[in-house]
Amino acid sequence: MYKYPVAEPEIGEEELKNVVEAVRSGWVSSTGKFIQVFENLFARYVGVKYGVATSNGTVALHLALVALGIGPHDEVIVPDLTFAATINAVLYVGAKPSIVDIDPNYWCLSPSSIREAITPRTKAIIPVHLYGHPCDMDAIMEIAERYGLYVIEDAAEAHGAEYKGRKVGSFGHVSCFSFYGNKVITTGEGGMCLTNDKELAEKMKILRDHGMDPRKRYWHNVVGFNYRMTNLQAALGVAQLSKIEKFIEKKRRIARLYAEELSSVEGITLHPEMSWAKCVYWLYSILIDRKLSISRDKLAEKLRRYGIETRNFFYPLHEMPPYRGYANLSYPVSTDISCRGLNLPSSVKLNDKDIAYIAQKIKEVIKGF
Ligand SMILES: *Cc1c(COP(=O)(O)O)cnc(C)c1O
Repeated sequence: MYKYPVAEPEIGEEELKNVVEAVRSGWVSSTGKFIQVFENLFARYVGVKYGVATSNGTVALHLALVALGIGPHDEVIVPDLTFAATINAVLYVGAKPSIVDIDPNYWCLSPSSIREAITPRTKAIIPVHLYGHPCDMDAIMEIAERYGLYVIEDAAEAHGAEYKGRKVGSFGHVSCFSFYGNKVITTGEGGMCLTNDKELAEKMKILRDHGMDPRKRYWHNVVGFNYRMTNLQAALGVAQLSKIEKFIEKKRRIARLYAEELSSVEGITLHPEMSWAKCVYWLYSILIDRKLSISRDKLAEKLRRYGIETRNFFYPLHEMPPYRGYANLSYPVSTDISCRGLNLPSSVKLNDKDIAYIAQKIKEVIKGF
């Protein structure tokens, strides 16, 4: 247990009240009033018409791919720097992932690398809004339109983030969110697909519920899944959603404090926020420049001794055994950034003093070298 954890949920009385109500009602599985309420409120929050709640964010991605009819012989473009769930979902449907490099300025997949990766078999792009920073959605949607591709936004790390004043998750044909315990809001485990396409939403609901015909019980026209969210999870989610603006403001405050404290430190690159972006800083992150005499890993190890948890950036997908075979481009940017990036404590529970202390320790450790 760290005194200063990277990400920890803040769960209060409202959550408890809702969950107790759900338990007392007896509706503990995937029927019950909180599910639809959560779907509707979250969809409205993001500015999308339909929400389909799922048991986690990974299956939300899988569900979206299946509903869009993506399968063997199709190719799906994913960024090299992301959590493995993004590419795993592509592999679940038997499609071929096409891994592309990221932009050095904001760490999300780069539109020019997408163009390089497109083949006649490309069917979809999965932009990942990494660590709370939005992708360049205008550029991505333009490419998608030109080549007739689906866009499935992986917004698991970016609830409430904005691209040119519009929330991420409202650009793609489908967007997928996660409500895992360390995400911006949580339902314990949980996820959601959002779409403006009514038919697609219906399809996802059927696939989520074993593929059962909604008008004819126990009649199955397709092979579906059990990817439903429980009423207990949704009860938690409704209460969390009512606090989302507070959480995001807190994350942005944490980011501002880190930036103030660390901007003068030579050899550190701060978490970016492009002029067109509102970043929610899911995990406030820094890059350790190569000219510093202390390595990223050494810094992390020293901070650990003060109870400060940090996390290394994701490994580039193209380096790991299950995905190596899908690396057919070059990845200079993600390779470089992955081994220099460090996520700092970003829990909404941390106060100004905590952030000042953490920043102080970072400065001390760096100076000591
Ligand atoms: C967390 C996360 C997921 C998966 O969400 P789970 O709810 O943990 O299954 C997918 N993509 C990204 C980028 C994530 O960070």
